[in-house]
This record gives sequence, structure tokens and C-alpha cells, in this order.
Amino acid sequence: MFAIMEATRLEALHVAQDSATGLKAIIAIHNTRLGPALGGCRYLSYPDEQSAIRDAARLAQSMSYKAALAGLAQGGGKAVLIRPAHVHNRGALFEAFGRFIETLAGRYITAVDSGTGSADMDCIAQHTRHVTSTTAAGDPSPHTAMGVFAGIRASAHARLGSADLQGLRVAIQGLGHVGYALAEQLHEAGAELLVSDLDPGRVQLAVEQFGARPVVSAALLSTPCDILAPCGLGGVLNAHTVAQLRCSVVAGAANNQLTSPQVAEQLEARGILYAPDYVINAGGLIYVALTHRGESLPAITTHLSRIASRLTEIYAHAQAEKRSPARVANRLAERLLYPL
Ligand code: NAD
Repeated sequence: MFAIMEATRLEALHVAQDSATGLKAIIAIHNTRLGPALGGCRYLSYPDEQSAIRDAARLAQSMSYKAALAGLAQGGGKAVLIRPAHVHNRGALFEAFGRFIETLAGRYITAVDSGTGSADMDCIAQHTRHVTSTTAAGDPSPHTAMGVFAGIRASAHARLGSADLQGLRVAIQGLGHVGYALAEQLHEAGAELLVSDLDPGRVQLAVEQFGARPVVSAALLSTPCDILAPCGLGGVLNAHTVAQLRCSVVAGAANNQLTSPQVAEQLEARGILYAPDYVINAGGLIYVALTHRGESLPAITTHLSRIASRLTEIYAHAQAEKRSPARVANRLAERLLYPL
């Protein structure tokens, strides 16, 4: 356990169990230098407890980096609830989790993540106010899409010389909550869309609504385009897939797109501009953090616009220093998290 904590520079790890509801919860608090830790709550099955701890620690670390570069007064945290084989009362389990969060007195604020939804957050909210993305707070995905759209424009400007997306070919992998909203904005901006999703119904909708061209999922990454926007699962960029890319820019919403830091260097070597995922997809985090603080929608929109300027700053450093944008982003975040 301490080895994982040291490797990720985790500040604290909290665990709780509740026999009555089957709750087995881990809360990883990565770094609270900039503010209380904020991050989603996963509800998944894990092969063993070590894997759950590792997942929580790694994800909490990336939340610290994301919040820091998004200019938020928040730290990074993540909760993992180990999903039992059978659960009798899901609501009671999430209520027990709410009581656990309350014991941390605001050091950790939770949100939806894989396997959880706003109804679960509503249960948590019965016992603590340190919870976001409840039914009342609304879905952050449209805000993530807005940030990605602005980030794509900034990336197009940096690599193709103009932020005008008219006539550019954008390939979107995944037309879920974020990908579909992004497709709509890109279509309005005049981009030509190439789309794939495991759900043919979503593809068909994009074909009808945006005149998108469907591409089979297995072929999307190697489809010639100007911009590739991964908006499905993470881990899509590895040594093998990067060798097949035929685009100038990779800029999308998916978390953890790179399977290893070396992939960023490979993208760089191939002349493909990569928008660091945790920078371009921070819109949802900005939305939940600022909604939780009671900020207005115009204030949130203003804050979202900083995603584009942050990317522009990262690209300028990357070019000047001949480093990959991913490396530059990590260094800028670490300066904020670990000042000398
Ligand atoms: P979602 O589950 O609503 O949508 C994902 C879509 O991708 C689904 O329609 C799925 O069928 C499709 N998909 C999965 N694998 C695919 C593949 N190989 N090829 C084609 N399509 C595939 O998820 P979402 O909320 O839209 O999030 C998308 C990504 O963005 C995720 O990686 C998520 O972690 C990340 N993200 C989301 C938010 C947010 O606000 N929702 C914020 C930050 C990051």
C-alpha cells in the first residue's frame, strides 16, 4: 500500500466498510495544496484490493494534475467502491458512503464516474454536502464537449494555422454523452465528420443529423483526417495504433488516451500534435467544481474558455523546448502542485 502511495505521491488513503450494506470504499486524496480534493466515485468490481487501491491512487493523481492546469482551487481525489457480487439495497450502500465522506469534513468532494450516476449522488447527498453531479446539479458532459471543441480550435490553429474548422475532416471515436455533443458543435462550425461508435443507433443519428460519414470502429484510427477526437474509452493510443494514424492532430475527450508516456514522444516524432487529454477534457471538472461553489453559468463559461488558452500556452512551450505537449503539461502541473 505505501509503495503505491509513494509512487503516486498520494497524501492520504482512507478506507471504510459497512457490513450492513456491503460497502467497501477507498478514498484516495492525492494533493490538497490548491484546495479540497475533488474527483469521481467509481463503483466497479476489482480482481483484488490492491488493484482497487492502485486504481484510486492513479486516478486521484490525474485529478490533481487536471484541476491544477484548469486553474481550479481544488486538489485531486478519487473514490473506489468495490462492487459486491450481490447488492440488496444500492441506495443504502451509497448512503453509507455519504456518511463516510462526511467523516472527512470536506477534504474530499465526490462526483459521478464509471458505474455511478446522479441518482447515486442524490443518495450520498442525504448525508453530506461534499458531493457534486447530483440530479439537481446537472450533467457535466455538455461542458466537457464545449471545452474539447474550444481545444480542437486551439489545436487546429497551432498545427494547421487557423482555428476555422470549416471543411476540416474530424474523426470522432465514440458518440456518447461527450462525443455526440461535440459532433453537433463541429457540424455547426462546418467540419466534415467521420464517426464510429459500438452502438450503430448513435452512428445512424449522427449520419441523419450532421451528415456524418460512418466508419467501422476498427478502421477509425487509421482513417485519413485532419483531426482525430478519441471520445470513447481510454488507452486507444499505443505504439501500434500511433503508427497507423493518418491525422495532423489528436484532440479528444477520452481519459488516459496514452498507454505510456513514450507514446507522446512517438506522436511527436510522427509530427502529430497531441492535446494532453486531462487539459482538453477539463470542462466537466470545471463545471462540477464551480457549480459546487455556487458560481453562475456565465462565470463557468468564462472559466471554460481558459482551456483553449492553456493549450496554446502548452503548445508554445512544447515548440520552444522541443518537447511533447504531454511532457510540458505534466511539468506545468507539477510546478503548481510541488512548488520549490
Ligand atoms: P459515454 O459512455 O457516454 O460514451 C462513450 C461512447 O463511446 C459510447 O457510445 C460507446 O459505445 C463508445 N465507444 C466505446 N469504445 C468505442 C470504440 N472502440 N469505438 C467506437 N466507439 C466506442 O462516455 P462519455 O461520458 O461520453 O465520455 C467519453 C470519454 O470522455 C470517456 O473516456 C470519459 O472518461 C471521458 N470524459 C468524460 C467526461 C464527461 O463529462 N462525461 C469528462 C472528462 C472525460
